Amino acid sequence: MATVTICGGGNAAHVLIPLAHAAGWEVNVYAPYGDEAERLRQGMARNGGLRIRFEDGREIVGRAHRTSGDPAQVIPGAGLILLALPAFAHGPTLEAIAPHLDDDALIGALPARGGFDYQAEAILRRAGKTARFFGLQTLPWACRTSRYGEEVTVLGTKAVVDLAAFPASESRAVAELLTGLLQLPFHAISSFLALTLANTGQIIHPGIMYGLCYGREEATYSRDEIPHFYQGVDGFTAEKLQAMSDDVQRVAAVLATAVAEFEPADVLPLYDWVCRAYAGDIADESTLASAFVTNQAYAGLRVPARPTEDGRYRVDFTARYLAEDVPYGLVVVRGIARLAGVAIPALDSVIKWAEERLNHRYLDGDSYAGSRAPQVFGMNKVAQLAESHRAQLER
Ligand code: NAD
Repeated sequence: MATVTICGGGNAAHVLIPLAHAAGWEVNVYAPYGDEAERLRQGMARNGGLRIRFEDGREIVGRAHRTSGDPAQVIPGAGLILLALPAFAHGPTLEAIAPHLDDDALIGALPARGGFDYQAEAILRRAGKTARFFGLQTLPWACRTSRYGEEVTVLGTKAVVDLAAFPASESRAVAELLTGLLQLPFHAISSFLALTLANTGQIIHPGIMYGLCYGREEATYSRDEIPHFYQGVDGFTAEKLQAMSDDVQRVAAVLATAVAEFEPADVLPLYDWVCRAYAGDIADESTLASAFVTNQAYAGLRVPARPTEDGRYRVDFTARYLAEDVPYGLVVVRGIARLAGVAIPALDSVIKWAEERLNHRYLDGDSYAGSRAPQVFGMNKVAQLAESHRAQLER
């Protein structure tokens, strides 16, 4: 039996464990964060396994064979390693597992966000391991753990998910492997550089935060008043989202001339991506705003908020919609745009606003510190970006 190790103990890991078990894999879990390994073990034991409840009423139950916070217990022998983690946990997790990896192990990030390839290659090379990995453009499911270690609810499943692989020649085989494992269609795109630009989460999450909160940063709300996130997309927010998507399209168009074999068609405009990923979930596709507001997979989700001392709620700007999608998304695109000599005014305005909310300057002196921009990995000219792209395609 083939072995897969799932890294992480959050919502995505809760979906992956039963699915991989049901597909006939031996499933191990690497969960070093807090007491997650123990809680997962106890939950699965109590419940006779972990149950997924899908939006269409289907249920799948499955369990992990071994769950541990020690990589030596669960990484050796795994042919497939899945990182079901926010992007800020990719680096520490790759560092921890690298010494224990089998030589031919394939690593996947669900989702990759931006610049995963630069970081993964650097860490694996330093550890003396063969770099073989892939990244998904998005997580295939909107999912929330309902009882830890016992049950997870899938609110929506994407119609199709794009992926890129390193080396690129393996991307079709990886798409086939994942379709068998996760029971949904995967589509191989040309390169990680395209995947980094095609990461629509980096537009949607910070763009909606900006649209809904700009000028109202200090507002407080009763629980019921906390604005809906996707259903709250109004004209102002949709305009910002469109301008951000247009910026990314301009970067892709210039890269098509500066980087050999770069495929701009793999970088979908935001509206096209939403309609494709959520085919069947959207009641009114007539505008970008209506594609969000009438998307049933997005229904009910609200802006992240924290209780205040007087029992009201204030927007939580430390939540992932900025803390993950800015350094591991927008700032990476900013670094690429800088190398390509493309102005990105809409993305810049959101980054600047988010920097104030996060109290972190990613762009100080163009240092990009704390991000996965190519500059952090020693690429300071578009020719170096093109060379890294060529090397991935030719390996
Ligand atoms: P989650 O918060 O449920 O789980 C994250 C897990 O990552 C934690 O349980 C822990 O195991 C690990 N982790 C967190 N911080 C860590 C740290 N500092 N060091 C080491 N490990 C750490 O997240 P999730 O919902 O499973 O999301 C995983 C990824 O998928 C994220 O990038 C998220 O943005 C993305 N995503 C999630 C959804 C969804 O519906 N859940 C939808 C789209 C995209």
